[in-house]
Amino acid sequence: MSGEAFNPYRMAQQQFDNIAGQLGLDEATRQLLRAPDKEIRFSIPIRMDDDSFQVFRGFRIQHNCARGPCKGGIRFHPQETVDTVRALAMWMTWKTAVVDIPLGGGKGGVICDPHNLSPREQEALCRGWVRKIIDILGPDKDVPAPDVMTSSQHMLWMLDEYESITGRRAPGAITGKPIGLGGSLGRVESTGYGVVYVVREALGELGMRLEECTASVQGFGNVAQYAIELFQSYGGTVLAVSSWDQKQQSAVTFRRKEGVDLKQLRAMTNSYGEINREKASDAGYEVLPGDAWIEQEVDVLIPCALENQVNRDTVGGIKGSVRMVAEGANGPTTPAADAVIHEKGIRLLPDFLANAGGVTCSYFEQVQSNMNYFWTRDEVLAKLDTKMTDAYYSVSQMAQRRSIPMRDAAYMIAIARVAEACKLRGWV
Ligand code: GLU
Repeated sequence: MSGEAFNPYRMAQQQFDNIAGQLGLDEATRQLLRAPDKEIRFSIPIRMDDDSFQVFRGFRIQHNCARGPCKGGIRFHPQETVDTVRALAMWMTWKTAVVDIPLGGGKGGVICDPHNLSPREQEALCRGWVRKIIDILGPDKDVPAPDVMTSSQHMLWMLDEYESITGRRAPGAITGKPIGLGGSLGRVESTGYGVVYVVREALGELGMRLEECTASVQGFGNVAQYAIELFQSYGGTVLAVSSWDQKQQSAVTFRRKEGVDLKQLRAMTNSYGEINREKASDAGYEVLPGDAWIEQEVDVLIPCALENQVNRDTVGGIKGSVRMVAEGANGPTTPAADAVIHEKGIRLLPDFLANAGGVTCSYFEQVQSNMNYFWTRDEVLAKLDTKMTDAYYSVSQMAQRRSIPMRDAAYMIAIARVAEACKLRGWV
């Protein structure tokens, strides 16, 4: 990716092409799976609080629905691009396939910065997004969920708009809803917990004890916070965490040698996962540059922010102590950095396996919504743990059998499942 701007869609296609070649996929299946099935781009005009109008750009991209309705989150981000959404939609197809749930892959987005939008303006944006694509949404077509800078409140506004237009209750149409309004217990922590379930298994395979391990985490949003929560509750120590500083428009890393205090950090963090720099410094945290999270002497690195974070420029900073990289974010590692990590003998737990806990719990949420009967948190998390652990071992065994990186093994399993579904349906 050097010398040219990072393009996540090109990266997702490069990863796909590599595995399609190794699997010997026929040309038609490759053509079908290396690009999204359907793409919708639209404008959402909103009346702002000062009575002016602003027009936002929205997307929904459905990559593949051979194994079930499309599934994937919606992001609100000022740097959102159609190629980012394409890549994320594609990765959702592989994610639902690798954990073997009956769903396909899709993703949505709006180019906006929610920091600058009032709750009413955000509500209007959510309702406008649904109105524009109502025909392609629904529990049996395409089911959105939260992602970067969207929450259960946004999901409920979207569901309410969907139900108001269709004139019926359809709780399976959106996941990540609030508890008591069709949401599932355990959903909010599911992505971060899922990351640590697979880290736990992977460390066990390496003969390491999680309670003796240290980690450094990039990001302090939903995924990072719950990954830290479970890592610490298993007895591990998180030495550093980074977060976005909206005022300075840059990332910043916070380090404490005895380990970060999650409760204390949460109390100085806003709803976007941005830790207050001054408060953290007053509380005794060392304040370091944004990339410092990757340069820590720890056992495990857990990137939980955005794509393109472990790349040619940053990968050299990884210390010799690091044994594992667990991708909580989607697409954090570029193929160039992947190669370096593999050469160093570091085990990389790939994004669409490691962070599949969120969509797996979304699937449980749909199941519960359809039954109109809700499980306890312990039941949900036990089912999640089983699903993640099973998926981890399928990938790990394939990686060992073929002596390939875990990302390649995960891709082989996922692509083979999706290709088979397309074939059985008679599409290719
Ligand atoms: N946005 C999450 C992801 O990237 C969850 C998707 C979902 O629950 O549909 O996996």
